[in-house]
Amino acid sequence: MKTKKKKTAISQKAAPVLIAAMLLSLTACSGQETKKTETPEPVQERETVYQVALLQSLTQGYYDGIIPVSELKKHGDIGIGTFEGVNGEMIVLEGTVYQALGDGIVQVAADNETVPFSNVTFFDKDIAVDMSGIDNMSAFKSELDKAVNDNGKNMFYVVKVNGTFDKMLVRSELKQEKPYKSLDKALETDQREFTYENISGTVVGLYCPDYMSGLNAAGWHFHFISDDRTKGGHMLELSFKEAKAELDITPSFDMKLSDNADFQSMELAKNVDEAIKKVETDTKAD
Ligand SMILES: [Zn+2]
Repeated sequence: MKTKKKKTAISQKAAPVLIAAMLLSLTACSGQETKKTETPEPVQERETVYQVALLQSLTQGYYDGIIPVSELKKHGDIGIGTFEGVNGEMIVLEGTVYQALGDGIVQVAADNETVPFSNVTFFDKDIAVDMSGIDNMSAFKSELDKAVNDNGKNMFYVVKVNGTFDKMLVRSELKQEKPYKSLDKALETDQREFTYENISGTVVGLYCPDYMSGLNAAGWHFHFISDDRTKGGHMLELSFKEAKAELDITPSFDMKLSDNADFQSMELAKNVDEAIKKVETDTKAD
């Protein structure tokens, strides 16, 4: 038995050497062939929505970081999310990861800060939509929905709207300590809202098709950051006179899960739609 095992081990070790030798001979025959296999696939990668965990795990109170900010940045230059302990709202714009904290302060997130939930991609403008006379969130969403319906409602979309906003209502939340409460419970006491008027900045949003409602939230989810990068958060309301929306149609999806035992013991098919609606849209201001 022992001898047999040893033999297997040797042949396994020998295999890579053989393959390496074969590759070497290929290189000698045709340089072009080798070049082809070594080339990464940047186009494919740019057209992928990368998601860390599920909105459902976050909503149920899984706030432990799964990957560091440094890793997230490899998967996109635009996006939204949050940080370990829901320590603020995340806005990723032009490759920088911003952290809009519960006290209203915005900072650039440290590379070793960790991420329990996020969606990012690399932004490539596919469509532009001129918008005007937007009085509220529902008018804003329905204008964007037109673009989605015209271009395919079963794709992902990332939107970027830069402009001056007559009204901008955002929220963030205070950092949570363990044992974590579910997000709707945490926000009941620790949500902080900020209303700004006549503020210039960028709305960053993600559209998920309706079949994504078990992994995220179907429809739109927006965050905002001011042009001077001092104000921002999860967007609850807005109005503006004129702005151009730029949309990136994204046909691929990639998801990063945690092997942590607490994460693995969660019941992630549990329906938390009501709690998600509450955490996405509830406001104390009216
Ligand atoms: Zn949000």
